[in-house]
Amino acid sequence: METVTPFIEVIDEIKQAGGEVFKLCYQCGKCDTVCPWNRVRAFSMRRVIREAAFGLTEIEGEDIWRCTTCGRCPQRCPRGVKQIDLGMALRRVATNYDVFPASVRPARTARASLISEGNPLQFERKKRGDWAIDHAVKPFAEGMEILYFAGCYLSFDPRMKKVAAATVSILKKAGVDFGILGADENCCGESIRKTGSEDVFKNLARENIKTFISRGVKRILVSSPHCYHTFKNEYPEFMVNFQIVHISQYLRELMDQGRLVVSKSCTKKITYHDPCYLGRHNGIYDDPRDVLKRIPGLELIEMPDFGEDSLCCGGGGGRIWMDTPKSERFSDLRLMQAREVGAEVLTTACPYCITNFEESRLNLEYGDVLEVKDITEIVQEVI
Ligand code: SF4
Ligand code: SF4
Repeated sequence: METVTPFIEVIDEIKQAGGEVFKLCYQCGKCDTVCPWNRVRAFSMRRVIREAAFGLTEIEGEDIWRCTTCGRCPQRCPRGVKQIDLGMALRRVATNYDVFPASVRPARTARASLISEGNPLQFERKKRGDWAIDHAVKPFAEGMEILYFAGCYLSFDPRMKKVAAATVSILKKAGVDFGILGADENCCGESIRKTGSEDVFKNLARENIKTFISRGVKRILVSSPHCYHTFKNEYPEFMVNFQIVHISQYLRELMDQGRLVVSKSCTKKITYHDPCYLGRHNGIYDDPRDVLKRIPGLELIEMPDFGEDSLCCGGGGGRIWMDTPKSERFSDLRLMQAREVGAEVLTTACPYCITNFEESRLNLEYGDVLEVKDITEIVQEVI
């Protein structure tokens, strides 16, 4: 590969992504001390920034693909450097040159599937609403209380379809007048944007926005913190503003309104994992805990890294589609933490976290000692 051109382009991309902010980096290394990668292998965001500032980034290497966009280092940086934006800019350059290390290639397959089918999992677009057939869910119609936007994993992934089913059963029990978009729903686009495919994100966002407007959608319920984040914080770039509510917030709202009543107890020790895009990126820490605390008998225990210090599951920033060696999975560490505090159930509220945790549960052979559940699956059992 030519070397001179990428250097110029790296610098241009950095300028477009926030320009001078990267020059503020004074190489203190605080980012590296909090980065979860350094719990499993050496990785230096500080060095990535240094190299990028000089246009010396190794575009074909693995390092520009490591950041899970977990949000820990921006929170700690004394100079306000936007590390996640820088990472996205570098990935855009690599994407433009079509240069990817082997571990990132599955994300290219996900991208192709997003372009052709509107989901990253290579399922047919027309089957997107099939998960709901057995649950008698109505198509969304104008005037309904809320649109339930299930998202890609809850629509297609066998494990996550159980979470969609739990959500529907809760909504019905609470008497919520809701509907889904079925085949008209597209991926929200949050994660593909983080891999540097800005064009694919924009197309997905425009399609969804067109559908929301034409179907008269005002309020949207989501199960994924990634859908929540992009609908709430990124779709307004297209001059639209929908009311977005995450299921953990909605459960609390329904309980506050007396529409959802806890009628059974649960005598388990449960620990809650804060998904990065619900917690750090959007400040939602209390709602899920408040919901769990309303369940009689439930003992809520915290793990060492919780709240704004939550340990990333490893699935953000498009990493959910990339290959991570078994010895480098943050989710394994998280499951070990859950066991160390004596939890019988590790609960969370994100499809990527559940997917990674279920895989770690298998790899660590924790099948008999630790359950992994979405918060809706716990609530479904007590109402
Ligand atoms: S914490 Fe901020 S200033 Fe310090 S090395 Fe990292 S990016 Fe640079
Ligand atoms: S955002 Fe998270 S994963 Fe990315 S460099 Fe910062 S601490 Fe590491």
